[in-house]
Amino acid sequence: MEVKFSTRSAEQLKTPPASMSGVVFGTVFSDHMFCMEWEEGKGWHNAEIKPYGPLMLEPSSMVLHYAQMSFEGLKAYQTDSGEHVLFRPRENFKRMNRTSLRMCLPELDVEEVLTALKQLLRLDSGWVPNEAGTSLYIRPTILATEEAIGLKVSSKYLFYIILSPVGPYYSQGFNPVKIMVSDKYVRAVPGGVGFAKTGGNYAASNLAEKEAKELGYTQVLWLDAVERRYIEEVGAMNIFFVINDEIVTPQLTGSILPGITRMSVLELGKYWGLKVKEGRIAIDEVLNGLKDGTVSEVFGAGTAAVISPVGTLSYKGEDYQVSDVETGPVAMRFYEHLTGIQYGKEADPFDWVESI
Ligand SMILES: *Cc1c(COP(=O)(O)O)cnc(C)c1O
Repeated sequence: MEVKFSTRSAEQLKTPPASMSGVVFGTVFSDHMFCMEWEEGKGWHNAEIKPYGPLMLEPSSMVLHYAQMSFEGLKAYQTDSGEHVLFRPRENFKRMNRTSLRMCLPELDVEEVLTALKQLLRLDSGWVPNEAGTSLYIRPTILATEEAIGLKVSSKYLFYIILSPVGPYYSQGFNPVKIMVSDKYVRAVPGGVGFAKTGGNYAASNLAEKEAKELGYTQVLWLDAVERRYIEEVGAMNIFFVINDEIVTPQLTGSILPGITRMSVLELGKYWGLKVKEGRIAIDEVLNGLKDGTVSEVFGAGTAAVISPVGTLSYKGEDYQVSDVETGPVAMRFYEHLTGIQYGKEADPFDWVESI
């Protein structure tokens, strides 16, 4: 793939924030972006790295009406030795292709798009922040751009990658969050698009998240849509429980997003010789386990926060405390070790980290 470069002139370059403290997640963007287009009969073409800026889209563009799109989220890190690295980036583009199949979007060539991402990251390398816990968040996106409001599969697409420097997720340290179990709304149904990273899933979750926030909870824990009993995941994180010294996470049923952090926790736990399991986890069993102490930890796993301990679970108006609202040792160990691999402080036995 031939990538055209039209870069900003020296005077047009912006200055990255001097410090990431006080910068709201995902609100600052680097100087450049990668774009390419797809058309029936032509495939992907017009690959270009150009200044970050507004897209030209007609109001009739199909994505704006029928939400035919997919996106990804991964991060570039500056290691202690000053090198810039990615964490399992191929997994993100492979997942994007799985989302694309479900959403009738064209697939990407994983190696080609990873090469283009690295070219973009080398050009904007000054935007990888270097304070402890910071990173450069990477957002690849595919949009249906055919100008037609008749309901069908688009014949034209735009793929782009934008970069956003982000601070540590926990500005005040590693604080257990309060989560509300939704018994009123569902996120995804069997046979639907729950496993896909596509915009509609998040639009459909907003109301539940808003109502939970109004009651003082930071996120929603979703239950399965059929029985409203089996645990699925949290807003943008997968969920883990430590039950009788076993680390358990809901199995992938098609309505859960297959997180790369989730997969990494499972692989790392097995590598350490811990008992890890994917299975069906009923909310009533968890709540009973919190009462009798057999459930000792609950934590979320996702790219943004890596590991997020849960301190309180609310279900049908009642609050249940988890491990005295303290971060548990299992969550702490995964957090330290995963971030240790990402920042080059720990050995990387699986070759998860990739040089830029
Ligand atoms: C992105 C996402 C996750 C976490 O996936 P990672 O690959 O670990 O970042 C979990 N659940 C949902 C709904 C998500 O959108």
